[in-house]
Amino acid sequence: MLNNLYSDLKKTLSNENVLTTLEERYAYSLDASNLKDLRSLPDVVVFAENIEQVQKIVQLANKYNIPIICRGAGTNVVGSCIAEHGGIVLNFSKMNKIIEINKENMTAIVEPGVILGQFQKDVEKLGLFYPPDPSNLAVSTIGGSIAQNSGGAKSFKYGTTKDYVLGLKVVTADGKILKTGSNTIKNATGYNLNTLFVGSEGTLGIVVEATLKLIPKPESKKVLMAYFDTVEEAVSAVNAVIEHKISPSAMDFMDKNAIQTVEKFYPANLLTNKEAALVIEIDGFECSMNYQENIIVSILKSCNASAIKASHNNEEYEKIWTARRSSMGACAKLKPNVTTDDIIVPRQNLAKLVFGIREICEKYNLEVCMIGHIGDGSIHPQIPIDYTNKDEYNRYKLAKSEIYDLTAKLNGILSGEHGIGIEKRDYISKVVNCDALNYMRQIKKTFDPNNILNPYKIF
Ligand SMILES: Cc1cc2nc3c(=O)[nH]c(=O)nc-3n(C[C@H](O)[C@H](O)[C@H](O)COP(=O)(O)OP(=O)(O)OC[C@H]3O[C@@H](n4cnc5c(N)ncnc54)[C@H](O)[C@@H]3O)c2cc1C
Repeated sequence: MLNNLYSDLKKTLSNENVLTTLEERYAYSLDASNLKDLRSLPDVVVFAENIEQVQKIVQLANKYNIPIICRGAGTNVVGSCIAEHGGIVLNFSKMNKIIEINKENMTAIVEPGVILGQFQKDVEKLGLFYPPDPSNLAVSTIGGSIAQNSGGAKSFKYGTTKDYVLGLKVVTADGKILKTGSNTIKNATGYNLNTLFVGSEGTLGIVVEATLKLIPKPESKKVLMAYFDTVEEAVSAVNAVIEHKISPSAMDFMDKNAIQTVEKFYPANLLTNKEAALVIEIDGFECSMNYQENIIVSILKSCNASAIKASHNNEEYEKIWTARRSSMGACAKLKPNVTTDDIIVPRQNLAKLVFGIREICEKYNLEVCMIGHIGDGSIHPQIPIDYTNKDEYNRYKLAKSEIYDLTAKLNGILSGEHGIGIEKRDYISKVVNCDALNYMRQIKKTFDPNNILNPYKIF
């Protein structure tokens, strides 16, 4: 059967866009999730160059009854584009055109393979801004970020990907083209199908074009790094800033282990004797910057910040953010593997979450570096681990399940931005009730009755 599939695919696409050798397929057997034992070989990897080819690939998947797993840059961290049951990996790196940037409407139309960071740079040249900013935006794609509903540090002020998707062109499981949403800023015309596809992890349809909302680029930006001698003081500083009705564009957090680990591997003059640090970005009109900074600094001081550094130029700005964003890379140097997570709780429960995670990791003798978009209530515990060490892996699994129990107890959810994929699907019922899961299953059945689109992801 596979040989027939290969030959049909080669008739539809050019030869170089159909990868069939073991070596080629092996390169697509994992994503960035670093999951133990989950490497899975797709039957074939294909590169589509246009919408018609995507439609034909879907028709072939139906003909051979074989799954299709879309792939952007493969940087999701939940196993969402692993071909667990074999199938066709559909790569979008050759559908990477920015079709239009419309300054008047403040919208853009893009193909799914456009790199997020490049797109941001291009719109910024025109004085516009596309805020969703996962830390790895230098490589991740618009299609992948739509499918995962990616967020990032700036979600605190600007929201996540779902807030910027105005319309989508989607190839459905039967190969038709579905248009959702519109190119207008508001839309109250029927059910909002956009939001159904955003965050659906490639399980409901294949995004082949997106109309995105842009906003004016803030004139100026600056970042502050504030250190604290206790985690409670750092958390209360976040709440105090918010209560003063200042809207920083980002409020991120690093705990002592994260600070020390980053400093060990990527020295950035961080203060390694502090218990916690906040990275706070402000933006807006140039004339408002000193005003915002002065208010925030006085709030931080009143919350016992023991040291505060502010960026005075782009180099200092990048240095602070690079330190914060290096955390996962630094943590990965502690052991052969590193796991990450993105649980999120109502902000009032943050300190309990941080302490609870620490306690659980201590109980199971695991190291943990904690960072997070704390303004949103989101914490990323990063646990270095050696998967070849069975005992350590088992302890990690127990700790992970307890961390999710704690999150549920604190009224939180399992993912604020990374998605569920394979990694968290066994735990989703801890936070999503049975009825809601049943409706999700019915929605999946409606859009994909033959279960060929990224099957068995999420639940
Ligand atoms: C170091 C690091 C830091 C990260 N930081 C953040 C962060 O701060 N915030 C955050 O939100 N995430 C973060 N992530 C996760 C990652 O950035 C997002 O999940 C990312 O946006 C995925 O994009 P991708 O192009 O790599 O998608 P992929 O990993 O290739 O795919 C992700 C999902 O999208 C589906 N998909 C891809 N293209 C399409 C399409 N055209 N149509 C339908 N489905 C499609 C795939 O099937 C898969 O289910 C981080 C990851 C790493 C490795």
